[in-house]
Amino acid sequence: MDQVEYDPRVHPAYAQIDLAAIRHNVAGLRDRAGAAALMAVVKADGYGHGLVPVARAAVEGGADWLGTAQIAESLDLRAAGISVPLLTWLHSPGVDYEPALTADIDLGVSAPWGLAEVVRAASATGRTARVHLKVDTGLGRNGAYALGGGRTDTGHTDYSELVELAAAAQAEGSVEVVGVFTHFAYADAPTHPTVRAQQEAFADAVQVAERAGLRLQVRHMSNSAATLTTPEAAWDMVRPGLAVYGLSPVPDLGSSADFDLVPAMTAVARVATVKRVPAGQGVSYGHAFTTSTETTLADVPVGYADGIPRHASNAGQVLLGGERRPVAGRVCMDQIVIDAGDVDVECGDEVVLFGPGTRGEPTAQDWAEAAGTISYEIVTRFGPRVPRVYVGGDGAGV
Ligand SMILES: *Cc1c(COP(=O)(O)O)cnc(C)c1O
Repeated sequence: MDQVEYDPRVHPAYAQIDLAAIRHNVAGLRDRAGAAALMAVVKADGYGHGLVPVARAAVEGGADWLGTAQIAESLDLRAAGISVPLLTWLHSPGVDYEPALTADIDLGVSAPWGLAEVVRAASATGRTARVHLKVDTGLGRNGAYALGGGRTDTGHTDYSELVELAAAAQAEGSVEVVGVFTHFAYADAPTHPTVRAQQEAFADAVQVAERAGLRLQVRHMSNSAATLTTPEAAWDMVRPGLAVYGLSPVPDLGSSADFDLVPAMTAVARVATVKRVPAGQGVSYGHAFTTSTETTLADVPVGYADGIPRHASNAGQVLLGGERRPVAGRVCMDQIVIDAGDVDVECGDEVVLFGPGTRGEPTAQDWAEAAGTISYEIVTRFGPRVPRVYVGGDGAGV
């Protein structure tokens, strides 16, 4: 996303991004990863925090690699002058791999069709494509399927076939298989039996590749939750995303503070309308809220088009005048109404929607609980109408 400069004369809200928090979080994750390398996942516009500034801060904090879902994201990183190793793993048939190869971007390959297209792009560019084979060890999502549960008879699976094709492509020089990777289904529940079963299936998958003569440099499976709770799954590299941004991927097991993570995003808006109303006033569409006493209503011009979940109607809270006050009635496209009670509030007053929680404001996790979702969705939903404002270093140092 192109960065929009925040101008209070134009924008009713902004998201402040603390790059020092990103650096701190990455450094802490690095420590937990031990000898393993650290890939900071910056897909989806750096989880809504802004791709390039976040990527620079992550590298400053010690990230060895950056990971993205889509090739365009990695090309934006290269265009910004970021030179660390990049891996991009999600591709649709017909995607143009040539710019990725020219820009030295490693590619995740999940299926024979993907390998064939990468091979074609490699011969067109005269480059050797660096690929990481994606194995499905039990998530049941993308990746080539392999039998799990510690079974060693992994022959005749999609994955074994992909390994054979990749080894053949490597022998004729168009690809170099540098890695094998997988993704957990239940990393947020570390005692769930699939966590162990997927580790065993991954060990098998690594063996299948090595038996086929592939010399793997990076074997990787851990997202944020696994990096924090299952250190024995680190292999050669961990791939945290959410934790880089200071949010806990396992809120039932520990808060951000419990893992020494600092939430990087603070979402701020200003009150646009204030009115004192009597008891019995219906509020917002469908009057899903009716005042029970005389109260002050504060209209705040951010809504679901900006990223406020509509499911937080009558449930989300904000910090206003030093107090936590609730969203009254439905979240609209462009605005929400806060029941300010007897808080002394004036037009133009600052409203903190969420932040690290250090000033008493709700956190992204609080909003996630109010809306019945996960904090990932709260931060990634913030859209282009909400400019990002960077503090804690401009991220220009890499
Ligand atoms: C998004 C993603 C990650 C990061 O996941 P978090 O839960 O945010 O840490 C890691 N690996 C893959 C393949 C992903 O798609």
